[in-house]
Amino acid sequence: MSIAHEHLLEIREMVKDHLAHKDEHQLTLARQEALKQQIRERLAAEDAVMVAHYYTQDALQDLAEETGGMVGDSLEMARFGKEHPAQTLIVAGVKFMGESAKILTPEKRVLMPTLEATCSLDIGCPIEEFGPFCDANPDRTVVVYANTSAAVKARADWVVTSSIAKDVVAHLHAQGEKVLFGPDRHLGAYIQHATGADLLIWDGACVVHEEFKADGIRHEKEKHPEAAVLVHPESPAAVIEEADVVGSTTQIIEAARDLPNPTFIVATDQGIFAALQKRVPEKEFIIAPTAGKGATCYSCANCPWMAMNELETLATAFDRLDNEVFVDPDLGRRAMVPLRRMLDFAAQLNVGVKGNA
Ligand code: SF4
Repeated sequence: MSIAHEHLLEIREMVKDHLAHKDEHQLTLARQEALKQQIRERLAAEDAVMVAHYYTQDALQDLAEETGGMVGDSLEMARFGKEHPAQTLIVAGVKFMGESAKILTPEKRVLMPTLEATCSLDIGCPIEEFGPFCDANPDRTVVVYANTSAAVKARADWVVTSSIAKDVVAHLHAQGEKVLFGPDRHLGAYIQHATGADLLIWDGACVVHEEFKADGIRHEKEKHPEAAVLVHPESPAAVIEEADVVGSTTQIIEAARDLPNPTFIVATDQGIFAALQKRVPEKEFIIAPTAGKGATCYSCANCPWMAMNELETLATAFDRLDNEVFVDPDLGRRAMVPLRRMLDFAAQLNVGVKGNA
């Protein structure tokens, strides 16, 4: 069994454990407010700015926005951090997001509530296996999703996010290039279908998006015929077929704002519902089911690693030694090359690079 598949079995156990215990750690409102105040004061005192992903809990997203930081996807977070004058970045998200921030801003201190928060795509694509896979296919251009380690990025020709992946692969296809794409097999299949490119795809998946079920979405559509279906492209092909719009986190928010429908069935991590409700308060959002027709397992659309970002660990982020992100400088310089390539390409197209999970 490969290292990647051993890790994926461990991940399934970890997700089950998280779901079984996730409601045990509720803070009182008074404790939440005390922690928020502590964080506000430390951010101000330490010349720090906070960036949070859409999938983190509402309280963290609110704190980031009200203290002059931002909420977004990983590259929006990294680019905001790079442009902001603060010398310390607090990244509420998962580890590859902290690493991307450090790669783009090696001169800054990057802290996270916990470095334990990772991603099934990152875990399922270790460089020890991905490197030889690339070596065995030297005729292919290596395109990796942002949800990867710095080492995997450093091995790639291009890094992409979900909103620009299709454009980059279409561009390479038009140049006659064959592509090795990793690590998300569903995103890879979606891009292959959309572009007709010759893609060799790594066998990874997101434990959250892989769980959405087409049957369950059809059942919701029967109950809510007025609803449009918004799907993240890390979902399986059968789920994508049910979609009115397939898009990144930011594209999902934009579609909810722009489409005339009063109701949306949304297939992505439920953390996004805070941002949806805040930005489009007049509309109704339904979590896409994760367990087939008539499903009731709504709680599963919840990334266990994003949930590790908590007020308590954030409040102590400045005082610990186990939560600063370091990237080997040589690795960081090499990973910067495919990241820059994507940013330059996006600037030429005049499109955003928003959207990886
Ligand atoms: S939601 Fe999926 S892709 Fe995003 S961090 Fe969690 S496991 Fe990774």
